[in-house]
Amino acid sequence: MPPSIVIIGSGVTGLSAAAALSRIYNVTIVARDLVGDNESHGWASPWAGAGWRPHITTSDEDIDMQKASFRYRLEPVTVVDAATFDDESIKVRKRGTLIPNFDRLHRTYMWKLAETDPDCGLKRVSSIDYFDQLTDESKIWYKDFIPGFKRIPSSDLPEGVILGFEYQTVVIHPLIYLQWLKDRLTASGVKFVRRELQHIRDVRDIVPQVDVVVNASGVGAKYLGGVQDELVEESRGQTMLVKTKETTVICRSGNIYAYSIPRLDGTAIIGGISQPGNTSTKLDPALRAEILHRARLITAPGTYPDKVEDLDIVQELVGIRPGRIGGVRVEKEVLTAPPVVGMKVVHAYGVGGTGYKYSAGVAKKVAELVDEFIYAGEVMLT
Ligand SMILES: Cc1cc2nc3c(=O)[nH]c(=O)nc-3n(C[C@H](O)[C@H](O)[C@H](O)COP(=O)(O)OP(=O)(O)OC[C@H]3O[C@@H](n4cnc5c(N)ncnc54)[C@H](O)[C@@H]3O)c2cc1C
Repeated sequence: MPPSIVIIGSGVTGLSAAAALSRIYNVTIVARDLVGDNESHGWASPWAGAGWRPHITTSDEDIDMQKASFRYRLEPVTVVDAATFDDESIKVRKRGTLIPNFDRLHRTYMWKLAETDPDCGLKRVSSIDYFDQLTDESKIWYKDFIPGFKRIPSSDLPEGVILGFEYQTVVIHPLIYLQWLKDRLTASGVKFVRRELQHIRDVRDIVPQVDVVVNASGVGAKYLGGVQDELVEESRGQTMLVKTKETTVICRSGNIYAYSIPRLDGTAIIGGISQPGNTSTKLDPALRAEILHRARLITAPGTYPDKVEDLDIVQELVGIRPGRIGGVRVEKEVLTAPPVVGMKVVHAYGVGGTGYKYSAGVAKKVAELVDEFIYAGEVMLT
């Protein structure tokens, strides 16, 4: 019997972790909100834009997770023992157990998926990033990584923008991608259980012999007994899904935060509202004009009308980004407090407004940490 992993959370982080783990482990996802609960504000994943815009950071670990998620470049694969490497199923034999070569599996993840699987909810798209505070390229870690990267001449930048770049990336339709992931996980034997946990020990009611718990509970990590991370910070977002012919993702950050994320189906998400500490899930009608104003600042004249009444609004969305002061937490912990002394946990939360772009990279790291727990002391071949 393969080791048992329980994942708390069925958002994009939990589902992606399941996708990385289910190849060799027995995986159960336990969550209050499950795929299809598109009206629930108890989770963030249905409410995202979602664009794959590189997140500016100086953390090598965070850059690695983003790269692993996108994986545009093919690099040589290190095959430890050619005799045990099965190129078709991409598995490496390890002490009688088949374990996947995660690095290789993720090498072409989102960028490739957008090309090879038209039903997955990912599409390739042109993208423009504007910065009105950055003055040089030193923090642009992705210039040699992302396809088609080019600096936009200063003469072509909107007023107030200091630096601008264009590149190719992917755009994600959250509801389609979540369902696609869930369908594939269900087909590969992952079990889904709806349950709101009060304490992390409650996972033992569902899987008594659980070997490792993956905590992908988003904002839940602030409240879940046995975790209660005070650094978790909710940040309210409000967007509009509008009809448009625009087909390029455009974002601006710095003094002004604004984005227009086309879904390449005649609609786009426009937004730029980030309200840390605000947990209201009620729509604020006063923000409509502000969102439109910001969209007009970054797009060509005529892309969006100047009055809200003239916008063709399909849907208005409010979502709570599951952030964390200090950034995303992906790490192992052996719990020491009763009643869960010795419980092995891999935390995967705090992705804030970047959960989709980090998702497959977080999953890759989660899988490596679960492997370390399960195969502690053994020599890894990958
Ligand atoms: C307006 C907006 C725009 C965004 N745009 C983008 C974008 O363009 N690009 C991007 O990458 N990201 C974007 N995001 C961010 C993205 O949506 C989140 O980072 C991501 O969805 C977080 O996923 P998650 O799985 O970590 O958490 P969630 O989706 O919140 O999932 C948490 C899971 O844990 C479960 N859970 C919590 N507590 C418990 C408990 N006690 N018991 C049982 N289950 C529990 C929940 O039910 C849920 O299943 C945006 C978000 C918003 C709101």
